[in-house]
Amino acid sequence: MRFDIITIFPGFFSSTLEYGILSRAIGTGQVEVAAHDLRGFTHDRHRTVDDRPFGGGEGMVLKPEPIFDAVSSLGISPKAERDCSRETVILLSAQGRPFTQALAHELARMERVVIICGRYEGVDERVNEMLCDQEISIGDYVLSGGELAAAVIVDAVVRLLPGVLGNPDSARFESFGADDVAEPKDGVTGPPRTTHGSGGLLDYPHYTRPADFRGTTIPEALTSGNHEEIRLWRRRMSLQKTMQNRPDLLEGTLLSEADKRVLRELRASDKRRHDLIDK
Ligand code: SAM
Repeated sequence: MRFDIITIFPGFFSSTLEYGILSRAIGTGQVEVAAHDLRGFTHDRHRTVDDRPFGGGEGMVLKPEPIFDAVSSLGISPKAERDCSRETVILLSAQGRPFTQALAHELARMERVVIICGRYEGVDERVNEMLCDQEISIGDYVLSGGELAAAVIVDAVVRLLPGVLGNPDSARFESFGADDVAEPKDGVTGPPRTTHGSGGLLDYPHYTRPADFRGTTIPEALTSGNHEEIRLWRRRMSLQKTMQNRPDLLEGTLLSEADKRVLRELRASDKRRHDLIDK
């Protein structure tokens, strides 16, 4: 897989690519990441990449010509002929569709991903209309440029590539992980097969040594040595974290009857706690 990032700050990426899983994946040739200087595709003495917005208003806008030239220098097919299951051109924008783990999985199936980083007030909209397949936002906030967003996307996608994580199950058994359900029976999908395949929930809490840190000990279930007890505790904690921090995720998660029972218990004890506070 190859990422090409178009940016006015190519040096930004040198440090982000030098560490951990990403650096290892680049070292083993599982992924290539190249950052291209947009100013290298200008033709004037000042290497101008931006201009004032039509209609007036604040700030400057990235011009279309250097971006089109940069993308065509990469040998990517024109938009009308592009096989979007193999290659894609992304515009980073706060107005884009949200970047999620599901979208990271989609991108991990590509052979080539081109990412255009905006700056200033943004990018001439014709880049989006004529050159890009998708406009992606990494969250509901405004960054000063697309570089951090590009680094986030590259990192999240690369760790999903086959062979990049030491243990291939790691990407399934973590927050927003793949469903881990029993085979469908009579057309009906079964309940979660294990209780620690996250199936779209948030991850459960993790602990390591020492078992007693400054008087706070780890949950007893984790030292029981009883695998079933550990599994149930972890599932309960995943459900609890998701209920507390991201209840919206519960809507799209396949829940077993046991999960639903745990959620009812958690909600009831939450209510009792709130009632006590209100008294
Ligand atoms: N005027 C734009 C708006 O209000 O949506 C903000 C432009 S922002 C200052 C400059 C660039 O940062 C954008 O063109 C985009 O490439 C990048 N950017 C900002 N927020 C982003 C986000 N949430 N996700 C992805 N890219 C973002």
